[in-house]
Amino acid sequence: MSSIPVMIPWLGEEEAEAAAEAVRSGWVAQGPRVAAFEKAFAEYTGAPHAVAVSNCTTALHLAMIGAGVGPGDEVVVPSLSFIATANAVTYVGAVPVFADVDPATGNLTPGTVEPLLTERTRAVIVVDQGGVPVDLDAIRALVEPRGVTVVEDAACGAGSLYRGGPVGGTAALAAYSFHPRKLLTTGEGGMVTCQDGELAARLRRLREHGMSVSAADRHASAGGGAGVVETYDEIGFNHRMTDIQAAVGLVQLRKLPELVARRRLLAERYRTLLGDLAAGLVADPAHGTGNFQACWVLLPEGAPDRTEVLTRMAAAGVSARRGIMAAHLEAPYKGTARVPLPATELITHRSVILPLYHALTEAQQDTVVAAFREAVG
Ligand SMILES: *Cc1c(COP(=O)(O)O)cnc(C)c1O
Repeated sequence: MSSIPVMIPWLGEEEAEAAAEAVRSGWVAQGPRVAAFEKAFAEYTGAPHAVAVSNCTTALHLAMIGAGVGPGDEVVVPSLSFIATANAVTYVGAVPVFADVDPATGNLTPGTVEPLLTERTRAVIVVDQGGVPVDLDAIRALVEPRGVTVVEDAACGAGSLYRGGPVGGTAALAAYSFHPRKLLTTGEGGMVTCQDGELAARLRRLREHGMSVSAADRHASAGGGAGVVETYDEIGFNHRMTDIQAAVGLVQLRKLPELVARRRLLAERYRTLLGDLAAGLVADPAHGTGNFQACWVLLPEGAPDRTEVLTRMAAAGVSARRGIMAAHLEAPYKGTARVPLPATELITHRSVILPLYHALTEAQQDTVVAAFREAVG
């Protein structure tokens, strides 16, 4: 039986042609297309600066450094997130402190963050989980008076709106992913946006070995930059995006409104088809609209355990997925949670992610819903 996957990226001839053009140009590493993609992405989000990187994990790594997080610091994060959120904190020698989430949105709230703030708290990473916009301003209002920076992990969020504007656009630092599991994809890829020009300049250096003059700028200067001698003023990384990826990203960014509209339409159709089961379906919060990057649904009471539900759906040709993971249940962070995380554990153990992607047909959606109904009993 042919099965319905949980996600397929929406890529076409235009992306293929854009990648081919980059290859034919001979400039394949970070160059003019990366610069153009950054400019277009900054314009889209409304953030003054955008710095393209190799993926969202490296974006979060740079955001942690940019927020001044280092050894001895604590960073409040949701456990209910892809593990890269917590790992970025660990990379800089700080400690992730796990907060619970709102069971309706899967996101941090001032109420879940507040009890975990200590004198060591340096930052909070809020996540737009599954594309559901987090209430950024409410958390900023709580922690900024204490000198704590809020970093937005908007990995899933391109295309979601918060108070009418693209998520992350107003954050001090926001990190985005262009992995194929998200809406807008470049294969692998990421972006950091920020408000401060000097910070953006530092992030550009850090992504490129700490170089004072980027390789692209050196090549573009007179005589191929033979007379330009760069310096290395701090330890940087190779977190660069390629021009091939950026070429694809420029096309995908233009398609983003169409991608979001289609997913919202299909999500709404799931809501109608699920009837009484739709009570467990992720929905828009009061302060914004999501892109339904992950369309998760809580299992109704009395349903079999989640693995059994997934097995039954797979047997019916539907590849659903476990709910969003919880980092505090994985080996590196086991036993480190300081408070109980009941909503996190409920969502991670008792939800499934339904197939949702641009090319999903109504007939396939009907199959998914029938399989889900059958599986939950
Ligand atoms: C996907 C994801 C990441 C990691 O993104 P990559 O681009 O794969 O590194 C980080 N945080 C969240 C919340 C994610 O969903």
